[in-house]
Amino acid sequence: MIIAIDGPAASGKSTVAKEIAKRLKISYLDTGAMYRALTWKALQTKVDLSDEMAFAKLANDAKISFSESLIDGRLHIKTYLNDIDVTKEIRLPRVSNSVSIVAKVPAVRKAMVKIQRELAVGKDVVAEGRDIGTCVFPEAEHKFFLFASTEERARRRCVELKDKGHDIKVSSLEKEIISRDTIDSTRPNSPLVKARDAHVIDTTEKNAEEVIEEVLHVIKGEN
Ligand code: C5P
Repeated sequence: MIIAIDGPAASGKSTVAKEIAKRLKISYLDTGAMYRALTWKALQTKVDLSDEMAFAKLANDAKISFSESLIDGRLHIKTYLNDIDVTKEIRLPRVSNSVSIVAKVPAVRKAMVKIQRELAVGKDVVAEGRDIGTCVFPEAEHKFFLFASTEERARRRCVELKDKGHDIKVSSLEKEIISRDTIDSTRPNSPLVKARDAHVIDTTEKNAEEVIEEVLHVIKGEN
């Protein structure tokens, strides 16, 4: 079984997808982490952000893997690029500010989608991203599209980052979110769009548990 959860930046996908994976005892796939890992590498190696050929090479040479652990009842994921733990680095603002530039390169997407499909072979998976229900797993049994107001998304991301010791203004997070959403939804190759058969959830006025319950109801076929 594949459960696809798509939506714009900071719409609550990760919180919901991780909890669904934990409760249903299935695998979790954070596809955004993969594009972030490549972007981190591109910034580390000072690849020019307009050099699409260099991104393509980086993507084709990349080995991306994950590990999962349960800490205090919550699912924690580590992301590795070529066996190096990049979990913290990929959340840095400089990565967030550049990731959509890297993710719109067709060769990068082709390489990442290939890995994403390989990682799901023979497994039940909840995968989150932008193009899961439309491109990566169009045959997914359950598709969800989460969104929330920009203000609420920036506020949530600010709280999340503060918890991790980063002090970033809500206004700059709002700018980052709008910029990423614009690039992600206007790129020609597998843009951020709602799949026609996706169940849409506006999370603006809902807490995480309410969204999780709604997703589980749909999956279980309850009304
Ligand atoms: O999910 P997250 O916000 O971490 O994703 C970071 C970026 O990765 C997105 O803004 C988008 O540019 C890219 N992405 C994508 N396709 C996916 C997942 C993420 O293009 N399936």
